[in-house]
Amino acid sequence: MTLAIRACGLSDVGRSRRHNEDSFEIDSATRLFIVADGMGGHGHGEVASLLAVQAIGESVRGSLEAQREEVGDSQSSRRFLHRAFAEAQERIKRATREDPALSGMGTTAVCCLAGDARVLVAHVGDSRVYRLRSGHLSQLTEDHTWVNEQVQAGVLSLDEARFHPLKSVVTRALGADDGQDVDLLDLELLDGDLLLLCSDGLTTMLDDERIAEVLAGGQGLEDTCRQLVQAANDAGGLDNITVVTIAVGDR
Ligand code: CA
Repeated sequence: MTLAIRACGLSDVGRSRRHNEDSFEIDSATRLFIVADGMGGHGHGEVASLLAVQAIGESVRGSLEAQREEVGDSQSSRRFLHRAFAEAQERIKRATREDPALSGMGTTAVCCLAGDARVLVAHVGDSRVYRLRSGHLSQLTEDHTWVNEQVQAGVLSLDEARFHPLKSVVTRALGADDGQDVDLLDLELLDGDLLLLCSDGLTTMLDDERIAEVLAGGQGLEDTCRQLVQAANDAGGLDNITVVTIAVGDR
């Protein structure tokens, strides 16, 4: 049985940045959802995040198209995502080689590819995927950041990490040398699940409790996205804010 999926996304520049360097894509036909958060100064982060979203989308669609005659399984979907992130990495590197002014640009990328009743989650960097299930919020991805390494080592608390001056230092990014070192998760979807993809402009402004509160509010997806962005802006809006919400089943 294929679980129905509906999605909605919203990106906002926030209250203190001049450029929005986040990008996102919702491809409901392919059941593919991507958020990328670019970095690089002079608006170049915008180039990197857009290249990543385009490359991942095109690559996954191309792979799915090519295998249409075969039976799709999660093993091949994993391969598709690895290939898609490698393609994004290559495209950003190539753009940097062709225009040295872009050098140093990079991007996070987080991506969900839903099958009938499972979802593959791939990510590099500190954009996140959360899941609200039966009122309980779980962070599915692990940030590739210096502060998260300190949290894992017991040196920093979660709250200290959220407000740490080095909180945005990522240890992996597309465009950097280790860019295609992708984390992949293969998870079961349940009717009623609500997934959230987001950039760190949301999670540095709101703690998990507040995010859970908005997600569990029971409004439609559009209102949920708007309220998340509004709450992050109310809390300061220090960075670009991007959210993609995905409702699973007929909720
Ligand atoms: Ca950001």
